[in-house]
Amino acid sequence: MLRVQNIEVVYSKMILVLKGTSLEVPKGKIVALLGSNGAGKSTTLKAISGLLKGEGGQITDGFIEFEGEKISANVDPDSIVKKGIFQSMEGRRVFKHLTVEENLMAGAHTRRDRKSIKNDMERIYHYFPKLKMIRTRAAGLLSGGEQQMLAIGRGLMAKPKLLLLDEPSLGIAPLLVKEIFGNIKKINKEEGMSILVVEQNANVALSIADYGYIMENGRIVMEGEVASLLSNEEVREYYLGVS
Ligand code: ATP
Repeated sequence: MLRVQNIEVVYSKMILVLKGTSLEVPKGKIVALLGSNGAGKSTTLKAISGLLKGEGGQITDGFIEFEGEKISANVDPDSIVKKGIFQSMEGRRVFKHLTVEENLMAGAHTRRDRKSIKNDMERIYHYFPKLKMIRTRAAGLLSGGEQQMLAIGRGLMAKPKLLLLDEPSLGIAPLLVKEIFGNIKKINKEEGMSILVVEQNANVALSIADYGYIMENGRIVMEGEVASLLSNEEVREYYLGVS
């Protein structure tokens, strides 16, 4: 479904951040992109979702294909959203003064089918029951984990085909992290949603993923089915913290 082929990215025309990164997200699968701080994971997502340009970044080589069609290079984020790719940002961008429900409505702004929007709201509440309980609360008053759920829920309102998640576990209490990843798995299972998730927390990402890539210094250094990554000594020692 998604194919990133050998892309190179520079910021400010000087710093080479991605040095030939390739990965694939097959339809209906969860793929984890792992690696340490500054490896280039967020940059990879931004290259896919068109958010690079706004940050002074640029794809200088390689290409990105979505459903057999080339979407690179350096397009704007709106056109990518229209193609069916939604990225939930690191740091959870929700409209703080709007209620949970209003935030979800805002996520449907690209759609015209008003009638089914209500049904979709129920669909989001099915995946994130917690959001239903707090639907009239201002988003700014939610905990970090609840805001993360809302940010993902809002993205689902646009009915994407591919969900890009940037560090959903960041700054969230461990119990909620487990819950959120459980919710993400449920979305994948019940809707066949294709998902590319970037995480520093390799343990939790591999607990729901089908396939994983490990990135270091702008390059993919290892990849494989989750079972094989979990049994790999190097992965266990450096990325999972077990030996
Ligand atoms: P993290 O988990 O810390 O976000 P990451 O693997 O997602 O790490 P990136 O955020 O993609 O890594 O950053 C990769 C490199 O690109 C870093 O060295 C970073 O300093 C640099 N970088 C990121 N954004 C910009 C920018 N807008 N301008 C210049 N350099 C940037």
